[in-house]
Amino acid sequence: MKSAWADRDAEAAVARYADVSRQEFAKDLALRVYTTRLLGADPKLVLHGGGNTSVKTRLADLNGEPTEVLCVKGSGWDMATIEPPGLPAVRLEPLRKLRARDALSDEDMVRLQRANLIDPAAPNPSVETLLHAFLPHKFVDHTHSTAVLSLTDQPDGDALCEEVYGKRMGTVPYIMPGFALAKAAAEAFERDTSVEGLILHRHGIFTFGADAREAYERMIEMVTLAEQRLQRGRKAVFATAQLPQQAAALADVAPIVRGACSLKDEKTEGAWKRFILDFRGGDAVLAFVNGAEIARYALAGVVTPDHTIRTKNWPLIVPAPDADRLADFKQNVAAAVENFVGKYRAYFTANNARCGGIKKSLDPMPRVVLVPGVGLFGLGRSKKDARIAADLAEAAIETITDAEATGRYQALGDADLFDMEYWSLEQAKLGGAAEKPLAGQIVAVTGAAGTIGAATAKVFAAAGAEVALLDVNEPAAKDKAKAIGGTAIGLACDVTDAASVKAAFAKLVEAFGGVDIVVSNAGAAWQGRIGEVDEAILRESFELNFYGHQRVAQAATKVMLAQGTGGCLLFNVSKQAVNPGPNFGPYGLPKAATLLLVRQYALDYGADGIRANAVNADRIRSGLLTGDFIAERAKARGLSEKDYMSGNLLQREVTAEDVAQAFLSQALALKTTADVTTVDGGNIAAALR
Ligand SMILES: [Zn+2]
Repeated sequence: MKSAWADRDAEAAVARYADVSRQEFAKDLALRVYTTRLLGADPKLVLHGGGNTSVKTRLADLNGEPTEVLCVKGSGWDMATIEPPGLPAVRLEPLRKLRARDALSDEDMVRLQRANLIDPAAPNPSVETLLHAFLPHKFVDHTHSTAVLSLTDQPDGDALCEEVYGKRMGTVPYIMPGFALAKAAAEAFERDTSVEGLILHRHGIFTFGADAREAYERMIEMVTLAEQRLQRGRKAVFATAQLPQQAAALADVAPIVRGACSLKDEKTEGAWKRFILDFRGGDAVLAFVNGAEIARYALAGVVTPDHTIRTKNWPLIVPAPDADRLADFKQNVAAAVENFVGKYRAYFTANNARCGGIKKSLDPMPRVVLVPGVGLFGLGRSKKDARIAADLAEAAIETITDAEATGRYQALGDADLFDMEYWSLEQAKLGGAAEKPLAGQIVAVTGAAGTIGAATAKVFAAAGAEVALLDVNEPAAKDKAKAIGGTAIGLACDVTDAASVKAAFAKLVEAFGGVDIVVSNAGAAWQGRIGEVDEAILRESFELNFYGHQRVAQAATKVMLAQGTGGCLLFNVSKQAVNPGPNFGPYGLPKAATLLLVRQYALDYGADGIRANAVNADRIRSGLLTGDFIAERAKARGLSEKDYMSGNLLQREVTAEDVAQAFLSQALALKTTADVTTVDGGNIAAALR
């Protein structure tokens, strides 16, 4: 590992955050931001919150009094992108005084830290604030380096660290973060004040220094020494287990895993708590999951305790899927999940009893699933959370692989992990914001580059779903996905081509793990007087306006059945299906067939919890109804454009957004199937009877 310190960058940081009125403070804070970002940018050091930094400096408090403060990383800030407000200033003297106490509860610790903030609106200082405060050094850096963990997470971790660091680093046995750890770390330093840092067993590493560069470069040097040790005397690891000749495809495996890891809602019939999946393959992951001894090293426990809130203490291991025996795989996964849930419940019950029965169980589902022959999945209630779980799982694989190559991986016991997983300060990191109605659900919209499709994808994303925008125009689909932002994706999909639909659904499933709601929206209008129209035109329209819907619904149903958690098929039909317009037969006829298709899906798959509904919309500004076309029709009828567009019972123009909201309400109505909702401002001739 190389130092990324550059004088020019450090100077630029100082110039950027310079504040002449509070010069010493501003310069210290600028350099603190600079090296915090250097540490945060390297996933081998810091990953999703595993680390923090501080600087001791002076500033004028709100009364203008010079005050000694500790600027320490605040919760909710990412080290890689931190700004000065992410390092709130806490009065140092009151923190130091706490050291005289014998004990301090977590609640009191948090209260005291907040009470001594210079800015009362600042974020909560790190749970490791006191550790920083009790050390005398100006700059203190802390990471959960994967290489250091590979050394400490071994039965003889102490001896290995002694061999690598000699007297240069102090050592602290595992203690949960908080007051007790802060005191133990200060004592470890005071036993030999010449040390350059501290190794916290099965947790991470601290380095310190008189200036930003010294503390940072000590971190790089100490981690490099760990890395070099891990390169020496390596033995071969992970002898491969017997695996099927041909592993099942990811697109077949993911929905089975996702379905088995869904939780039925006990209160609302038809509702599920579902997860989004994030897949990782690659050589290191495959070597790990294909190992004959996977149950020993993969189930030993997390590499550093703060991973538990994201990954739980163990992953779920499922049997290798054989491409020809998917039904067996489905059964095996269900059994493995049941076993996992039982184990998690037993772990909770036993440890909760130890803690006086005051904790409330989190959901018992795994957050990491290892699939021999295929790879691993991170699970989360959103794609973002699924990625975090997968990132941590990959980092854990690196740590465990290196530990096994030089010795033997060993983790902390269940009790320590339970204390961390159910620690209120750790759970607080996840935030308690209320979830959106479609959190955990995956939605695909076809014809998504069009006006109604794009509006629909946007509405579903705002409702908390992960959305995939499918369109025959791939660049346009990607553009619309980009406009929605977040984790929305755009995929090529020509619904008139079975192979294209199949490929698009495979990509969708690989990206998110499955599908729950499909809005089959792609369509186009053909005109012609029915007695004279060319049969080719009629057939072309049927390909898109009927068979297109059938292909999409069929592909979606296959995934939904593999998941076994129901689903929802939504179709953009048209008022033409019930109230044909003159010379619009080539459009209305396949749409009428599609209306019946909706009912057929509702009938055939109701018992599987798959709902099928339709929206009949009319007169929406879109690719079908362009500005020119509207102007022409309005003129032909001697109406203004406005009157033409609002020529309905309510005399209101209907928009793509209105159609999107209708789809959303159908998706949320768990007891509604075979429904047709009209979104046309009122048109009695098009009303269903
Ligand atoms: Zn830590």
